[in-house]
Amino acid sequence: MNNCFFCKILNREIPSKFIYEDDVCFAVNDINPKAKKHILVIPKEHIVSLNYVEDLNLIKDLFSAIRKINKQENITDFKTLINTGKNAGQEVNHLHIHILSN
Ligand code: AMP
Ligand code: ZN
Repeated sequence: MNNCFFCKILNREIPSKFIYEDDVCFAVNDINPKAKKHILVIPKEHIVSLNYVEDLNLIKDLFSAIRKINKQENITDFKTLINTGKNAGQEVNHLHIHILSN
């Protein structure tokens, strides 16, 4: 039983529009945007947080995806954010990278 929000989005149990998808990750618009464009890049594998990443090639793949997504969305100036741990503001315990652009 997996009650993870992002796994549910991936498994289409929660309806959400994928703006990008590849073998490793997918991206959706944040449901509660904190910038004009607020995108979440989410690995398909359920990994709790950055602290649980074993193969750091995943990080390279996620940032490679970010560059493709930004090209697709005409984003040139942006911030990336990874909240790690409850006390740092991580609400969903499935690794994700925020793209924020105004
Ligand atoms: P974090 O605080 O880093 O864990 O970020 C979790 C983010 O997920 C927040 O910015 C939420 O607004 C966003 N979020 C939660 N549920 C959904 C959903 N169903 N679809 C898109 N974004 C979501
Ligand atoms: Zn998950």
